[in-house]
Amino acid sequence: MTAMLETAILRFSKLRRAPGSVWSEATKKQAPHKPLLLLSLLDLVARGVVSSSFIDVREDLVELNELFTNYWRRVVPIRQTSSIAFPFSRLHNEPFWKLVPAANQELDRKTINSINTVTQLRQVAVGGQIDTDLYTLLLKEENRSILRQVLLESCFSTAAIRELNDQAAIHAEAFSYNQDLLLKAQLPLVKEAVESANYRAMARDQGFRRAVVTTYDHRCALCGIRIVTAEGHTAVDAAHIVPWSKTHNDDIRNGMALCKLCHWAFDEGMVGVSDKYVVLTSRQIALKSNVPGSLQTLTGRLIVAPDDESFWPAQEYLRWHRREFRLI
Ligand SMILES: [Zn+2]
Repeated sequence: MTAMLETAILRFSKLRRAPGSVWSEATKKQAPHKPLLLLSLLDLVARGVVSSSFIDVREDLVELNELFTNYWRRVVPIRQTSSIAFPFSRLHNEPFWKLVPAANQELDRKTINSINTVTQLRQVAVGGQIDTDLYTLLLKEENRSILRQVLLESCFSTAAIRELNDQAAIHAEAFSYNQDLLLKAQLPLVKEAVESANYRAMARDQGFRRAVVTTYDHRCALCGIRIVTAEGHTAVDAAHIVPWSKTHNDDIRNGMALCKLCHWAFDEGMVGVSDKYVVLTSRQIALKSNVPGSLQTLTGRLIVAPDDESFWPAQEYLRWHRREFRLI
């Protein structure tokens, strides 16, 4: 074992974590923020999303936060919430992580300890700088696996370790499914586009969602709305055109990013998409009172599709939807 790895093991096993009665046995009665953030970081490095020792608070944080939240929910009671901004800033007091200040900002202890939201974090910092020796170590799967084990064993109970290992497996599966979907979208349509049976439902959902939401860049295909919060929460869902229950088809071309209202209206057959990619609305919408005006104004507009045409909704699926709801 190299000296660098030994140092990393020592540092990961001695994270400074606040003790407190709010924390259960699952996290050894100490705050779990830092180890959960580091577990998420290990996943992100494995995905190739983080490709340098600098973690950008704008570009990398959304996906990091999604993984962090998934881990958090597995070991922390539902009533306790947290923001990733908390560990992202407090890791500054560990020897391997430095918060990099934004222009004209001073990062003294008081400023760092006052950061509780992503918006606050982005005001004072541009990112986190990992020790370059540590980053080099993290590029190797073997080292990541050793360091993951160190984090788990030093910070969590046996039951919590089981939960976190399961979540890590889902993250890996979701990413592999996501990559599969992106590749398969370049091939001609087939009935069973991806071997979805090999994947667990949770991994499929995450993989499909990531593929659709990112190819549409968080924009609703029908109304064009795009709202992403600082924490990375998005107004859109990854919607299936032909429902998953009918054909088990997660092909990206059987998906569209839709906001909650458009998703509901599409699933109810109140709106559809023509063979020219124009939004159609059902007669029901025109006749009914209390239907939001915003839905009616969509009629005749072109959908907002991904830049890359290979990801556009397939005509075959849109036709199925129009027929199903008698939208002409
Ligand atoms: Zn919409």
